[in-house]
Formats: sequence, C-alpha cells, structure tokens
Amino acid sequence: MQSRWSDAEAKDFVARYAVKGVNEDLALRTYTTRLLGTDPKLVLHGGGNTSVKTRARDLLGDEVEVICVKGSGWDMGNIEPQGLPAVRLEPLRRLRKLAKLSDEDMVNFQRVNLLDSSAPNPSVETLLHAFLPHKFIDHTHSTAVLALTDQPDGEAIVRDLYGDRVAYVPYTIPGFALAKSFFQFFERNQKVEGLVLLQQGIFTLGAGAGEAFEPMIHSLTLREEVRRLQRNQRKKAALPERPATVPETAPFLPGPSRTAAARRADP
Ligand SMILES: [Zn+2]
Repeated sequence: MQSRWSDAEAKDFVARYAVKGVNEDLALRTYTTRLLGTDPKLVLHGGGNTSVKTRARDLLGDEVEVICVKGSGWDMGNIEPQGLPAVRLEPLRRLRKLAKLSDEDMVNFQRVNLLDSSAPNPSVETLLHAFLPHKFIDHTHSTAVLALTDQPDGEAIVRDLYGDRVAYVPYTIPGFALAKSFFQFFERNQKVEGLVLLQQGIFTLGAGAGEAFEPMIHSLTLREEVRRLQRNQRKKAALPERPATVPETAPFLPGPSRTAAARRADP
C-alpha cells in the first residue's frame, strides 16, 4: 500500500484553511483524515476517528489547550475543520482518575467542555485520544486488521507481526473503560506505537501529522506482505505421496516410543 501523503497537498490545505482562520494543526488533521477516510481499505462502513491536540482561543481571548476530535455525523472522507470540534483537554485528562464513568456522563462532560456549544458530539472514543500525550492519533477499521483478527488465532497472528510495539485489547464497548485500560498500558510501556483492537481496528500514535499516518500505512503494507506469504505457503502445501512411517512421526510424539523409534530412524 502506497502512502497518499503529498507535501504539496498538505501545504495547500494549510494555506487554504489559514485564510478561514484555521490553524496549521487542524488543517493538516483535516487533510490526513480525508486521506484515511477515502481509502476503502482503511475505513470500513465509515468507521474510525482521528484527533489532534492543539491550542485555540476561547471567547475571552485566552489560549486553551484543546483536542480536536472527529464529531459524530461527519464522514472522514470529506471532513471539514468544523467536523473536528475542539474540546478543552485538561478537564478530559482529569477524568483518568475516576474509577468508572457512565456513557451518559461521559457524553455530557465532553459536550460541556466544547468550545462551541453548537458543535457535533465528539467521538465516543474521544477519551482514548485525550488520555494519551501524542499529538496526532488515527483510528481506522482497517479491512486488513479485521481480516487477520477475525480468525480463530487472530491475536497470535497480529502478536507475531507487531510484537510489543502495539497493545492488544479484545473488542470491548468503546468509551471510558477502553480509554483507561489503554492509558494504563501506555504508562507501563511508553514506547508503544499503537493499539490493535481485536475484531475492530487499529489506533496509531504520532507526534507529527504524517507520523501517525505513516505507521498506519507501513503496518498495512507489512500485513499485506505477510498475507501474501501465507497464501503462497498454502498453495505450496500438498498431500504427501505416502503416509509417514513411525520413525518419521516419532520425534513429534511424547513418551518412550519416541526415543526408541527416533533412535531407529537416526542411528
Ligand atoms: Zn472504532
């Protein structure tokens, strides 16, 4: 899979939105969200969400730290900056210390911390984005991840591919519990580059606009290669011309017969 990021296009987005008073972070977030959203391999059934942490001015002219996160009702493929509403970051971060939080309270808390009260509801996965320090976070329901993790040994396959570069979480209802468990994982392993939500998708974390985006593309390329390899191996596998003899199978069997037969097979 080829990255569709283009420096010229990114610059064009920044210039075009600067005229409308949109800062560079949000312009680039709009650009890469569209790149992800228009790739059918990455966004299944319109799923996924993205965010950027930046600064904005409130009505009093005070600069506040905000997270601009995909709002509900917007399609990633043709998103505009207003589809990534700004929420005050500090109050969201403070939710980390709660033991639990109902969905209703979470949605309400996110809404009351919007800079613009007429903005759409921030994504249900906003807290996962907010709890982590990474500037750009991308989440897609990638078909490659779904294809791999939908298999009975899906978790083992993705663990083989990524090792401890990413966290693995069985699909649970998104929201506070998922956000908190991933944050706790991050605290133990700060080098983590992403999260595989089994049967759901992948989150990638980055400091720059292209940084969260590029690992996503890279990891998909990697997976595509592995799948091609697995397909080729399956094609090559054929039935043996004759059944295996006892000495041939003995090394794989437990017990005393294994030693005796193996000795006979390998004098
Ligand atoms: Zn999702």
